[in-house]
Amino acid sequence: MALIVQKYGGTSVANPERIKSLAARVARYKALGHQIVVVVSAMSGETNRLIALAKEIMPDPDPRELDVMVATGEQVTIGMTALALMELGIKAKSYTGSQVKILTDNAHTKARILSIDEHNIKQDLDDGYVVVVAGFQGVDADGNITTLGRGGSDTTGVALAAALKADECQIYTDVDGVYTTDPRVVPEARRLDKITFEEMLELASQGSKVLQIRSVEFAGKYKVKLRVLSSFEEEGDGTLITFEEENTMEQPVISGIAFNRDEAKITVLGVPDKPGIAYQILGPVAEANVDVDMIIQNTGADGTTDFTFTVHKNEMNKALSILRDKVQGHIGAREINGDDKIAKVSIVGVGMRSHVGIASQMFRTLAEEGINIQMISTSEIKIAVVVDEKYLELAVRVLHKAFELEAA
Ligand code: ASP
Ligand code: MG
Repeated sequence: MALIVQKYGGTSVANPERIKSLAARVARYKALGHQIVVVVSAMSGETNRLIALAKEIMPDPDPRELDVMVATGEQVTIGMTALALMELGIKAKSYTGSQVKILTDNAHTKARILSIDEHNIKQDLDDGYVVVVAGFQGVDADGNITTLGRGGSDTTGVALAAALKADECQIYTDVDGVYTTDPRVVPEARRLDKITFEEMLELASQGSKVLQIRSVEFAGKYKVKLRVLSSFEEEGDGTLITFEEENTMEQPVISGIAFNRDEAKITVLGVPDKPGIAYQILGPVAEANVDVDMIIQNTGADGTTDFTFTVHKNEMNKALSILRDKVQGHIGAREINGDDKIAKVSIVGVGMRSHVGIASQMFRTLAEEGINIQMISTSEIKIAVVVDEKYLELAVRVLHKAFELEAA
């Protein structure tokens, strides 16, 4: 007997039929003697619909009230899922995030989980229930409803698996695993049987939408065994996220290519080059809770420096106005520009540790297509570049080919 957390995404609960088929799968696992916790997202499109509704009333919605609205999406699907299980004769009980007591901080719309009270769930499991928990939502110390950021149900699933010390966390989605890249961009993309946790973390942080990054961080921290599977298929082992690295010769150097259209670039031009500048620019941006991703600073011959960084597209205007209002005059910057017509492409693989020349191969491949690289950042197992967004798909396709990801 195992304790399994199964998380189902929006397309897996898109309508009553899908929910019935989800319930049938849970019933099969239950019949094998397993204890099951189900975590569900809202019906696909529902969270977007709710956000759009809020924006019709207030263009930049108050985050607390937005959370109150969007959390309803998952409250509907937990009830439906519990009903579908009951219809199959299975004892089931639903919980919202606050009923479980998934305690988060108070950063509305992107809250972080602080702790989970697993007591009632454990009791219910021991009493033979399937427990159905709303993904994506929690409650802060003052009782406010919070949400965990888009795609946050994955994090709920993994965090629950960690809190319950589950044997496995299965993430059911509309694809049958993790691919070398998005098959909609590269039809030759291949499903991976396994991927290391570190690679998954990089892919998620670089824009792969298969798993929300916070969920992968959680899985790493608590060593949760994670598997990505399709809810549209009965068979198949999906992709296992492993903690072991196989160091075989056949192991490809690059495991996957991620891309991200969600970032914008901000450039602060002509800043005097002296200590404290990076802090004076990025400090106020961080204080406003805007996440910064890539950062580049170049010092010119004239003793001034250009400072470039990327933020989420939705936060570009906020960051620009902070910089123009509070920073520009203060530090004496000549000009501040924003550009949201960019995209980031990243190649990821633990094999980079033991192979040289990967970066130059990447840059040559892009150069041969005439694709200009605007920014570069690297880690031990990743190389990311920013390019003009109109070349994104071309860049992904040529890199997928150059690193022989379809063959393996
Ligand atoms: N319903 C939320 C969203 O669409 C959370 C999730 O699906 O994971 O982002
Ligand atoms: Mg999702």
